[in-house]
Amino acid sequence: TASGGCQKIRGAQLHELLESKHNVLFDCDGVIWNGETAVAGAPEVVRALKQRGKRVFFVTNNCTRPRQSYVQKFARLGFAEVDEQEIFSSAYCSAAYLRDVATFSGKVFAIGCPGVHAELRDAGISVVEEEEDGPDVNISNCALDPDVRAVLVGYDEKFSFMKLAKACCYLRDSECLFLATDPDPWHPLRGGRITPGSGSLTAALETASSRKATVIGKPSRFMFECIASQFDLDPESSLMVGDRLETDIVFGVNCGLSTVLTLTGVSTFEQAQVYKDSDEPKKKDFVPDYVVESIADFLEALEE
Ligand code: PLP
Ligand code: CA
Repeated sequence: TASGGCQKIRGAQLHELLESKHNVLFDCDGVIWNGETAVAGAPEVVRALKQRGKRVFFVTNNCTRPRQSYVQKFARLGFAEVDEQEIFSSAYCSAAYLRDVATFSGKVFAIGCPGVHAELRDAGISVVEEEEDGPDVNISNCALDPDVRAVLVGYDEKFSFMKLAKACCYLRDSECLFLATDPDPWHPLRGGRITPGSGSLTAALETASSRKATVIGKPSRFMFECIASQFDLDPESSLMVGDRLETDIVFGVNCGLSTVLTLTGVSTFEQAQVYKDSDEPKKKDFVPDYVVESIADFLEALEE
């Protein structure tokens, strides 16, 4: 194999790679869809892989939706029969971490979208209810919940100074866990705009608290462990397909998976080559084994 080889492949070589793997892990945004538009050919690729007996999983750092809402999105974008069990989001895995890994009891102060709150509740975890602060409430007199034992930060379009202030008060207690759904710095929107990602909000809280968050999403190994604990999954027979070198490809490398960069999303072939040519050994973790233009290339490769 071409480990960290950054090798462009298609056709027969891609066919051989897919033949050699039993499990395919797809990142979502930038790989199978962009926002609300499926990548051309992606639904057919997922179907063709499953028809050939491959197991397909979706591994997304997007914490904004609960799993059930992803099922609906898959259906809406033309992906037939994607099962809730195949979807691993950073919100779902954060809840699983708190339930199964952290010896955790108490409440979570969650900064995040409704998706984060819903997954926590589904996992049976108590969450501090968000309430509107009255006009006389400020950072020195706001109520703090004495039962909070964890702070979880994810993408939150209603992020505020008050949330930041409360979170760093909770984190003064060194026993209080500090988790982040994902480290993503930003995400592309339509029309060339970007939106700040969970990583930027986490960075604010890391500075304010002088602590470092435990990251649950890619590139942390935990998401793979989450899948492996539910499905018998062997890294050697698994392939990670992603569009962001710093999360998806590093995740694959961290977990011992073969990696494919697809060029329908954030990272470019040139950026991968810059990492490959770097003198810093750590940068090698950012280099994919293979590069495809689009996962649509999988279709002709499968049909070879
Ligand atoms: N988080 C948010 C809020 C997003 O909007 C996106 C992409 O649109 C992501 C994370 C990244 O998702 P993925 O890991 O599927 O690329
Ligand atoms: Ca992505």
